[in-house]
Amino acid sequence: MEKISALQKLEQEITEDKNLPLNSNLVFGEGNPDCEVLFVGEAPGAVEDEQIRPFVGRSGQLLRRFIRELNWKEEDVYITNIVKRRPPENRDPLPEEIEKYKPYLTRQIEIINPKIIVTLGRFSMNYFLPDAKITRDQGKLFQADKWFIAPMFHPAAALRAPAMMVAFQENFKKLPAMLKKIEQMPKEEIKNNTLPKNLTLGL
Ligand code: URA
Repeated sequence: MEKISALQKLEQEITEDKNLPLNSNLVFGEGNPDCEVLFVGEAPGAVEDEQIRPFVGRSGQLLRRFIRELNWKEEDVYITNIVKRRPPENRDPLPEEIEKYKPYLTRQIEIINPKIIVTLGRFSMNYFLPDAKITRDQGKLFQADKWFIAPMFHPAAALRAPAMMVAFQENFKKLPAMLKKIEQMPKEEIKNNTLPKNLTLGL
């Protein structure tokens, strides 16, 4: 309950922040604030802007199907984006847009406190792991500060390229094992951030 009201307050703050770029609908995010798994995409598209929900267009349908195929419920995870309003013509979010929305995503993640953050696409990955490269690093497990990050291709990229679809689906299937791996890690080491930065699972 505390998390729900903290998120509501944060959403209200974003709504009232007149310094934020983009003026389409605010798509804050949805799901269970007590989730273990948080998915972070880039920015809402046209369908998301219309329905005021994250990942409900074509790429969202793929993401949600893969979540269900793990026998997880869509309502048990949390889904959001770095930039919370749609850039015009679905263009990539600009660095200054990412920068302006950054403090809000940081606070949203702090409130939710997930076990693992799945980044969808390179913008979201580089937000947490500035030096990572999407083709090299998708499917691996990293630690960035206190968060565990699993970079994946963006589902829109998977829909465009069959090879990326295969990788996206394979990596998605690793998520339960990644969660187990994180649960088995020594808590002290996680807290002190002494673990190796790149925890490639070798699955
Ligand atoms: N692409 C994203 O990155 N986010 C959405 O919410 C929809 C499409």
